[in-house]
Amino acid sequence: MKIMQPEAVHIAPHKKGTCERCKGAGYLRMNVPFGHPLFGKPIRCQCKEAERIARRRQQLSSLSDLDALSDKRLESYNFRIPGTQDAFRAACAFARHPQGWIVLIGSSGNGKTHLAAAIANYCLEQDRVVFFTTAADLLDHLRSTFAPTSTVHYDQRFMQMREAELLVLDDLVMESCTSWAREKLYQLFNSRYTARLPTVVTMNQRGQESLEEGIRSRLSDQSLVKTVVFERVGDYRLSEHPEA
Ligand SMILES: [Zn+2]
Repeated sequence: MKIMQPEAVHIAPHKKGTCERCKGAGYLRMNVPFGHPLFGKPIRCQCKEAERIARRRQQLSSLSDLDALSDKRLESYNFRIPGTQDAFRAACAFARHPQGWIVLIGSSGNGKTHLAAAIANYCLEQDRVVFFTTAADLLDHLRSTFAPTSTVHYDQRFMQMREAELLVLDDLVMESCTSWAREKLYQLFNSRYTARLPTVVTMNQRGQESLEEGIRSRLSDQSLVKTVVFERVGDYRLSEHPEA
């Protein structure tokens, strides 16, 4: 049976800027004979599909918490600064094929956050479910949600961090963590470790020394984790904004 091109079913007044195919109705019907399974069935117009994709992008974007860092891109990273090339190459490879974990270690001001946010922005544009948080914000959230005496056992935001297709945890440091905050962080790492979910962690040396043992052992599993150390980088922020 020959299937004809869909044609408009609802006759809506055609305003300027509305879709040419469906005249703004959002649905079309196939020009098929009576008895055809699609006879009389409305089908979604391409313009509705584009709207659905735009809406999903908007939801993913607001979930990711990346608004303040949306200008941090791989293409705006200054990889000419000595000591950043390995990290830049690793970040590009990871962004294109997010598998396993990547840990970026270096002193503050060397562009770790830029690279971590750039990976997140890249994956967000591939319509992945991305979650970006600093460890300090995460701990604040945990403190306000799971007080030690709290009976809350389920928290949506924490679940999103555990299950996101990509989690970026910026500036990990555990030295001021209480034991229950350590336990929560361990749960987060352990569930992502067990499910092998792509994860980006940045930290400086102090952060590295403060790690709880269970997290340290997961971060040192070389079958999952790629660790990149920035070598003696000058202040990346100064090089990024020479006028500052
Ligand atoms: Zn349309």
